[in-house]
Amino acid sequence: MKMKGNTKRKKSNKSSSKPTTSSTQTSSSSNLLRLPLEIFLEICKSLTPVDLLSLSLVCKTFYNDLCCGESKTIQEIWRQSRLTFMPFREMGPPEGMNEREYIRFLIENKCYFCGSKTRVTRIYWERRVRSCIKCFKENTVLEGIDNRIKLILQRPFLQNGSLSNRFWRDQVESKYAELCNVIVKDQNEWIYDQYQLYNILQREIAERRREDVLSRENQRSQRIQGISEKLDLMCEEIDENGLVKYQRYLLERCPSLCKCYTYERPFSERG
Ligand SMILES: [Zn+2]
Repeated sequence: MKMKGNTKRKKSNKSSSKPTTSSTQTSSSSNLLRLPLEIFLEICKSLTPVDLLSLSLVCKTFYNDLCCGESKTIQEIWRQSRLTFMPFREMGPPEGMNEREYIRFLIENKCYFCGSKTRVTRIYWERRVRSCIKCFKENTVLEGIDNRIKLILQRPFLQNGSLSNRFWRDQVESKYAELCNVIVKDQNEWIYDQYQLYNILQREIAERRREDVLSRENQRSQRIQGISEKLDLMCEEIDENGLVKYQRYLLERCPSLCKCYTYERPFSERG
């Protein structure tokens, strides 16, 4: 790794660190900024992927330190953080993505198309996007697809239900345009080559989907555990008359609690 000198890091702090909202934050950020890069990176090795992402957004200096795509040392910090704190995320980034971009893609619940951060999204590895169901439907097609293109793209969506036969519109269109540019006598060979290529890709996608499912199940069980622990604490609360404030059986009848179990986000105090 090409380390930046301490002097350079300190110098860049003056011009690039943005003011933060609280004095405590400013003070802790400033303390980190004063550290030599090597020590700062040692600290980063123990951070979770979410913490690393948050830290990289604090100021330009941290961003430069942590988002250097070419540095093997930096990428290794992100990789180790993923392997340590993200169960069932053992596969490395797909081609063209570095570790940081991959982690961000896995963590950030943001629809690629509409930008919504509140809707439930899914990763669609064939298109390598996160999408909400509404945008998925708007950007995929079910009918009117050339059979040769269908053969190449190989029914990419294997989820259950009515979405299983849908294809991304832009992929269908670009593949069809490519096919039209191939001389007719060479088309069969081209289709065969493309089929082989997509076949390899499909195997990788199947593995990534398996990790998605395991990771979601793990998150859900952690969420249920978090909620249950919170309920236990609530049921221990006593009011001013010395009576128990909440009854567990009543809390569990609450519709919003029942709904809360089904979300996939980690359970937080606010939640
Ligand atoms: Zn959307």
